[in-house]
Amino acid sequence: MNVSLAERLRAGTMLGAEGYVFELERRGYIKAGPFVPEVVLDFPDAVRELHREFLRAGADVMVALTYYAHREKLRDVGREGDLEAMNRSAVRIAREVAREGSADGGALVAGNVCNTWAYDPDDRATRQTVRAMYAEQLGWAAEEGVDFVISETNDYLGEALIALEVIDGLGLPAMVTLAPTQPGRTRDGYEYGEACRILAAEGAQVVGLNCDRGPATMVPLISTIRDLVECAVAVQPVPYRTTSAEPTMQALRSADGERAFPVALDPFTCTRFEMAQFAVQARELGVDYVGICCGAGPHHVRAMAEALGREVPASKYSPSMELHPMFRTAISAKDAAFLSSWKA
Ligand SMILES: [Zn+2]
Repeated sequence: MNVSLAERLRAGTMLGAEGYVFELERRGYIKAGPFVPEVVLDFPDAVRELHREFLRAGADVMVALTYYAHREKLRDVGREGDLEAMNRSAVRIAREVAREGSADGGALVAGNVCNTWAYDPDDRATRQTVRAMYAEQLGWAAEEGVDFVISETNDYLGEALIALEVIDGLGLPAMVTLAPTQPGRTRDGYEYGEACRILAAEGAQVVGLNCDRGPATMVPLISTIRDLVECAVAVQPVPYRTTSAEPTMQALRSADGERAFPVALDPFTCTRFEMAQFAVQARELGVDYVGICCGAGPHHVRAMAEALGREVPASKYSPSMELHPMFRTAISAKDAAFLSSWKA
């Protein structure tokens, strides 16, 4: 029997791992552009494997891969008929792998919804459309069995509040995070801290930010949120080296001036050490749920877990450079000569 989200949060910093869509795109199972998780039905083993890699790396939550598995997006790729099967299967796969971590209490299972692209704050009719999309996705997730729901990459507070209402209606705990694409406000004009305060007042158990910004440009936004809410705070940046000049992954430009987002971001990727440093920094700022979003690899997650003081199953294979033939202290004369050539 899993403990609840509230109990996990009380027990100490939680570690989240996301970025399933980007990673499965790199592995050849998701098409960049629509980014619809067709992989759930077409290659379920690929999803299972990535869940397992994040679990071994220390993730406390298996997030069902239902990101963009909503009616609007499935219609774009001609698979609206697969909507229910895709949502149900994603939760089943996440549950199945979460149980594999049962030696240490098991991972929690999160249902997942995101921005719909259907919401328009100036058109009240879109609220009903969005509500219906969330209701069907989360209704299936609740039936399959999730411990809580993550509503994420919200551009609009208004849309996030609809998700929260639907999650509440199902009697599930909610973690609601905003996508900080703009310098300081949601697309409907609320400062991020104020938007989080409203979400907390409306009953979200966890609020915060996810995606779009790398640690360098997301961390400065955390403190205000931490100061404004009493509930748990989540921060899940992308592992990319965003800067004050290019604060989001969408703004990053390659040396030849081309937009790197979304499929040429590789040269901007943070090392595992940078993400480990971020995890510690976030915990020191009072963040309760430290995670990682698009671009994440299991090596990042393991380094974050270890920086937070944990030993995880994948730690068995963490680096031991003292065993590397060229880096160990008792290096032979032959190899020492070789090493000098690496400096050339
Ligand atoms: Zn993301």
